[in-house]
Amino acid sequence: MIKLPIALLTTLLTITNPAAEMPQPLVTEPIVQLETTYTYEEMLVDSVLLNQAYPEFIQYEQIGQSLLHRPILCLRLGNPDAERRILVQTGQHAREYVAPQVCMALVEYYASAYARGEMLDMCNDTCFYIVPMVNPDGICYVQLGIDSIPETEPELRAFVLSRGHRMLWKANIRGIDLNRQFDARWDTVNMYGYTGPDFEMFKGYAPMTEPEAQALCDFATNGDFDCFINFHQQGNVIFKGSSIGLPEINAKSTQLAYAIAASNHYYVPAQTNTIPSYGTFADYVVTVLGKPSVTLEFGKNLPPAGQVEAKSIFDRNKEVFAIVRNNL
Ligand SMILES: [Zn+2]
Repeated sequence: MIKLPIALLTTLLTITNPAAEMPQPLVTEPIVQLETTYTYEEMLVDSVLLNQAYPEFIQYEQIGQSLLHRPILCLRLGNPDAERRILVQTGQHAREYVAPQVCMALVEYYASAYARGEMLDMCNDTCFYIVPMVNPDGICYVQLGIDSIPETEPELRAFVLSRGHRMLWKANIRGIDLNRQFDARWDTVNMYGYTGPDFEMFKGYAPMTEPEAQALCDFATNGDFDCFINFHQQGNVIFKGSSIGLPEINAKSTQLAYAIAASNHYYVPAQTNTIPSYGTFADYVVTVLGKPSVTLEFGKNLPPAGQVEAKSIFDRNKEVFAIVRNNL
């Protein structure tokens, strides 16, 4: 199962400049579908199709790879030379795969607006860097089952089967929660009783041991970003900043959270986090990089049951990118 996406992407990534060789296709219907389960493979194909449809506005690059060597992609939306740079990341948690689907639809929504000549100020002065699936192995496992792990990895297969909870799998494929891996008070991460690799909550034996977390960390650290947007699932909630962040950075994060909430009507808890978790990507970017961060928890249904909500989550959050840009 793993061979197809990687072979496919290798082929796709060799298309160095599709815009030069093929006429720009007329986009008559959406490329990113919101109706059914959105797979890693669809994300790869859609990244290429979006680039072909909107070569001026969307490019993509590989920023790392998963434990099972699946490429981790980043899409660039807007002017790559823009001074303002915003990183959007999602798909850290396997079972929350509706968030990557909505995120990809948002990329298409803005690119199609730019192509119609709308929001061109934003297109020119802001570049969004979107990492839609930080945890491809986990997402493939929830959606496709044990066949998503190659037979050449018998120990990994045995481990995953021993833990159960396939549909609720949240960690990466060897049982580390990628959003508890970051070096921001990692030693005090609350694991809710988990003591070893499991389907959720285990932070690992040290910070930054997992290739997916490391790829995201390196990209975030070296990218000179002005702000971070994180999509998770579920709760219709916006978390702002970090419970261990500096007041001025949290104040900016709070301003962004309320600006978003005025549009999508999500709940913004008064505290920076309802339960301080530590070791999250948000904790890292706020405390180590010193930049504002907002974390949106999409939808009301517990993942992976959120598929029926994908369209309504998209509709409710369409303006998020623009709101963050306008309030930065
Ligand atoms: Zn999550």
